[in-house]
Amino acid sequence: MKALVYKNVGQVALEEKPIPGLIASTDAIVRVVKTTICGTDLHIIKGDVKEVVHGLTLGHEGIGIIEETGDNVTHFKKGDHVLISCITSCGKCENCRKGMYSHCHEGGWILGHLIDGTQAEYVRIPFADTSLYHIPAGTNEESLVMLSDILPTGFECGVLNGQVQPGSTVAIVGAGPIGLAALTTAQFFSPAEIIMIDTDNHRLEVAKKMGATHAINSNQENVIEAVMALTEFEGVDTAMEAVGLPATFELCTRLIKPGGRVANIGVHGKSVTLAMEDLWSQNITITTRLVDTCTTPMLLKTVVAKKLDPVSFITHWFKLSEIEAAYKTFGNAAEEKALKVIITNEF
Ligand code: ZN
Ligand code: ZN
Repeated sequence: MKALVYKNVGQVALEEKPIPGLIASTDAIVRVVKTTICGTDLHIIKGDVKEVVHGLTLGHEGIGIIEETGDNVTHFKKGDHVLISCITSCGKCENCRKGMYSHCHEGGWILGHLIDGTQAEYVRIPFADTSLYHIPAGTNEESLVMLSDILPTGFECGVLNGQVQPGSTVAIVGAGPIGLAALTTAQFFSPAEIIMIDTDNHRLEVAKKMGATHAINSNQENVIEAVMALTEFEGVDTAMEAVGLPATFELCTRLIKPGGRVANIGVHGKSVTLAMEDLWSQNITITTRLVDTCTTPMLLKTVVAKKLDPVSFITHWFKLSEIEAAYKTFGNAAEEKALKVIITNEF
């Protein structure tokens, strides 16, 4: 089968690999129908994620059809259409029993990280019963690829940890797919203002269409002054970091009012500075989280009910044989005006 493998720092390639087989009785083999590329895959290619070995198949998002199940898989059978979660969970360990699936003792984020991922014709999914979701008949399956990672990540790490509330004020730093996922799911709670901050005017325009009340280009305006002017010089209740850089995290700590929350979403590769001399007295909360995907069933219901329409996140389409070109487009997102790319298996 074809699979997109990590070769070396800066290098991926589409190669032939054997079709995966069952290893444990709780595994399923899924024929991948559609997958996508995540910003995290770009971090891996840059060499930021040291655990990824050369030759590993990348990808932790997608939808597919069950090809084969182990003897102890009871919830899925051959032919079922499934949503693959970026988080694999055993459902039984201490962390899973708390709903913190991201830190499952035997799972967590392993697809395309510690084991072969979804950017291939087939993928082995461990703990299939608790790591896959049935796709309801009649759903736009392509749009559900956004539920593998970006929507639960924006919602859990940004909106829930940031405690967005009716009438509250929110700033989101970073208008890429994750920042936009936080923007759309924040609106479940009817905040009064959502201020999007980015350096790319196209992404800011998209953010306005998706419900941002204000957009600030940080290359053209002083963000702190602009946010203060919009919030009666108090700051926002919640600032979400959706980039993963020290400067954008530090900016978030400067945008919140006393009692506010900084909810980190971004993947960080470097230390950040905390200005404790200013922050110690401000009653603020800073949260971090790896997505647990515990809200995926709820988000799936909102998509099926058309309360949330992830179609607008998709800007480009490729075949699996063109995935190297898809990486170039996604890696050049600003010039290409790319958000999420869909990669379809031809079979
Ligand atoms: Zn991801
Ligand atoms: Zn577990």
